[in-house]
Amino acid sequence: MSNPTFGFDTLQIHAGARPDPATGARQTPIYQTTAYVFRDADHAAALFNLQEVGFIYSRLTNPTVAVLQERVATLEGGVGAVCCSSGHAAQIMALFPLMRPGDNVVVSTRLYGGSITQFSHTIKRFGWSATFVDFDDIDAIKAAADDNTKAIFCESISNPGGYLTDIPAVAAVADSLGIPLIVDNTLATPYLCKPIEMGATLVVHSLTKYLTGNGTVTGGVVVDSGNFDWSASDKFPSLSQPEPAYHGLKFHETFGNLAFTFHGIAIGLRDLGMTLNPQAAHYTLMGIETLSLRMQRHVENAEKVAAWLEADPRVDFVTYAGLPSSPYAARKAAIYPKGAGALFTFAVKGGYEACVKLVDNVEIFSHVANLGDTRSLIIHSASTTHRQLSPEQQEAAGAGANVVRLSIGIEDPDDLIRDLDQALAVATS
Ligand SMILES: *Cc1c(COP(=O)(O)O)cnc(C)c1O
Repeated sequence: MSNPTFGFDTLQIHAGARPDPATGARQTPIYQTTAYVFRDADHAAALFNLQEVGFIYSRLTNPTVAVLQERVATLEGGVGAVCCSSGHAAQIMALFPLMRPGDNVVVSTRLYGGSITQFSHTIKRFGWSATFVDFDDIDAIKAAADDNTKAIFCESISNPGGYLTDIPAVAAVADSLGIPLIVDNTLATPYLCKPIEMGATLVVHSLTKYLTGNGTVTGGVVVDSGNFDWSASDKFPSLSQPEPAYHGLKFHETFGNLAFTFHGIAIGLRDLGMTLNPQAAHYTLMGIETLSLRMQRHVENAEKVAAWLEADPRVDFVTYAGLPSSPYAARKAAIYPKGAGALFTFAVKGGYEACVKLVDNVEIFSHVANLGDTRSLIIHSASTTHRQLSPEQQEAAGAGANVVRLSIGIEDPDDLIRDLDQALAVATS
């Protein structure tokens, strides 16, 4: 069931799923199996030739994971999706069909700390590189691209400051360059933002965060809009030219707007092996059933806590884009009308020392390196998630030494405020 005329709240429960054909089980079963019996030798050959879609081996496809793929693709407005073992795996899987050694990607300076490390160091092992740009400067994005630029990458709502990216403007740059825009929509979720409707080609998620929603799963997904013409130029030979890793198959010619998705499974999962397991897919499916309800409450609570912090004399500034005083207020109204998410930073008077004392003295907030949980979380990015970065990179990423990051949960907001109040009292005494 993936009728796009159904509302979000219906699709988050039903898209991709149906009662189990074997047993009638109403919930999507966990197909805990590695392999699937072929009907006969011809069936096996047709599956391996990609002439027939079906299940071969769970590194490639699994029925539980397939339901999750269809559900996320539907919620994002894409034609297909490939689940992977983590959000970071999804980022590599998104770039893999696009990039060859010597190619580069233009990325925002405001990203999840692990993504900055992945893009500034680890992808170099593949012969790829990243050019970091302030994505509020649209002209700078275009200026940073060259003939070997194969993608533009940003977060919709960006970690850790909760800043909002002007996706339509960035998508226009990608269009003018003839390259795909990849948006990490982890912090917004498709409930708050649908990058594909604003021109993105691919959307990636860490399923680990809001989509699962309760800190139980590590997973990722790449969603394909199906809107990019891979054959319009010679920039993307893995998709437009005969693929030597699949006996010369031309993915775009053969699979049309599903080329990227098929490539992700037939080459990406087959050879990189960053597969999501069916148990994890089950937990994420359970999480997504309540996504809209949770996101509404996350946003409501974040607005209350951020407003309280902004008015507190012990606090220097609050970055939450959902505050009326935010420089992103107009962009929020135009592009993110349902809310600016629930992740932001605030600066504590007293700098590094006060921040460390604050995280040591909260009671309801958990001091963890995670976000997008039902429970409220706190972290001092400069000494943890963004520790690998230089002070300049930390500042550019919005993770300076004097700021603490909050991921606001769905508890009673008055309790969250009371907790921050008592911890700030200790931290600034
Ligand atoms: C957590 C996160 C990632 C990485 O996801 P993992 O599942 O931890 O690999 C990527 N982008 C954003 C915005 C994140 O919050």
